[in-house]
Amino acid sequence: EKNESKNFIEQIIDKDLDEGVYEKVHTRFPPEPNGFLHIGHAKSILLNNGLAEKYNGKFNLRFDDTNPMKENPEFVQSIKEDVQWLGATFEERVFFASNYFETMYECAIKLIKKGKAYVDELNSDEIRTYRGTLTEPGKNSPYRERPVEENLELFEKMKEGQFGDGKMVLRAKIDMSSPNINLRDPIIYRISHTPHYNTGDNWCIYPLYDFAHPIGDAIEGVTHSICTLEFEDHRPLYDWVIKELEYEKPPKQIEFAKLYLTDVITGKRNLKKLVEDGIVDGWDDPRLVTLSALRRRGVTPEAIKKFMELVGVSKSKSSVDYAMLEYCIREDLKLTKPRIMGVLDPLKVVIINYPEGEVEYLEADNNQENEAMGKRQIPFGRELYIDREDFMENPPKKYFRLFPGNEVRLKNAYFVKCEEVIKDENGEVIELRCTYDPETKSGSGFTGRKVKGTIHWVEAHSAVKAEVRLYEHILKEGEPLIKDNGEWNVNPNSLKVLDECYMEPIVKEANIGDSFQFFRHGYFCVDSKDTTDKKLVFNRIVSLKSSYKP
Ligand code: ATP
Ligand code: MG
Ligand code: MG
Repeated sequence: EKNESKNFIEQIIDKDLDEGVYEKVHTRFPPEPNGFLHIGHAKSILLNNGLAEKYNGKFNLRFDDTNPMKENPEFVQSIKEDVQWLGATFEERVFFASNYFETMYECAIKLIKKGKAYVDELNSDEIRTYRGTLTEPGKNSPYRERPVEENLELFEKMKEGQFGDGKMVLRAKIDMSSPNINLRDPIIYRISHTPHYNTGDNWCIYPLYDFAHPIGDAIEGVTHSICTLEFEDHRPLYDWVIKELEYEKPPKQIEFAKLYLTDVITGKRNLKKLVEDGIVDGWDDPRLVTLSALRRRGVTPEAIKKFMELVGVSKSKSSVDYAMLEYCIREDLKLTKPRIMGVLDPLKVVIINYPEGEVEYLEADNNQENEAMGKRQIPFGRELYIDREDFMENPPKKYFRLFPGNEVRLKNAYFVKCEEVIKDENGEVIELRCTYDPETKSGSGFTGRKVKGTIHWVEAHSAVKAEVRLYEHILKEGEPLIKDNGEWNVNPNSLKVLDECYMEPIVKEANIGDSFQFFRHGYFCVDSKDTTDKKLVFNRIVSLKSSYKP
């Protein structure tokens, strides 16, 4: 394989393997269990797991749970489900940074003994001031030159809970004048008396990310520790920790650009706020791009994989058009899902020359582009529903659907002609009376005359009633999610509920999570949360129209 076809991370790995830096590839995905995963995380999961698969290596799922304030087991559970759903193969390789607290503590002791860490009593404001700025070097803390013994004693007391939150910290002793602010004696341990969801109150000191992460990688034998660009400036600190702790097989940090999608909300902070304020129906509200929301909406892991392949991996920041994700979703569903008829806004049609009480079954392809999906029988009778938008009393030119005196094809059935329009007392059309021509049956080879329009329909008595939910982006185009006055600014059309829709009887057999294409309306999935024995709810996954050209 040529290098050109490989992304920059694969090129680094190839070189490492060639030069014998590592014998095998070992990656990890390190989420903090402080929220649900979103589409951005999927990029990291698929990248890390994909590399492990490609190089016949290993992939770990590691919970980066070193902050007792924000983490909980419910998030751990949802993350496991999401990673599994995406098809990443971690099996028994699930790890928790919090299970390494003892080792991390010993690592801290080791640094103190080497004279590479000290207990600082400056408060957080002072530490910030002393740290300096990009243009100004930092200043040493007055506690920086404490003797090793005193540091060991104080750190022990920190661990034993003798000090309150924020009273003291452990800092790495590196270089207060480094041009890289991350190296100006970063904090590596802090005090927090909040109980931890995993370790309870065993600990009241917690390692910070920059200290905990390289240790976790080293413990697990990770070779390539892949993270996003904002950690590029932290890499020297990552390497410093690994070097000072004298790990023999140092892991290597590699950064790539985060995935940003247009028009959607990623970032746990906003997602969490939307959920907590009840603006959305939980973390899995189909308007969100959490993985659980995408799953509930009917997006498949295959579509997400296809999308990530198309996006690629790079070091330059960019935002990807949401329409590209939709394109991948359609591409994945188009050959695999049955194409059936569903009426979202019903208008009754009576075929006046069709015998009352009679039903016949017409044959239809399940998917015209995939013969292997077979055929099904659709009931046809005297009373039908069509979509209201497929009829106009006074149509403009070039309207080829139904109007008084016009003939159209009912898909998979017959030609019908509109003979009479019935209205209620308000003048609203409530029923159409049509005639059909038995000779025009679909598949009969009839060539006597042609019609320009084909519309979909369902037989009224056998049709299954359902609720359909249509979605738009939760963000208003070009506007912020939260207004200047702090109020939510959510697109009011982001959810549209249609509560009287009729589907072909085949949907009676559908299970939660099953998807269909409804002719002309798009792809729909049976909702997992609100569907009951009595009520069938469909989420629109994506419409058929596309603005994206591959
Ligand atoms: P958020 O900013 O959405 O809260 P996070 O980075 O704080 O995300 P973590 O749980 O720390 O969430 O992320 C776990 C891993 O996923 C990290 O390695 C992180 O770099 C990666 N990741 C997070 N967001 C994205 C994204 N948009 N694109 C690619 N990778 C991402
Ligand atoms: Mg975070
Ligand atoms: Mg993070």
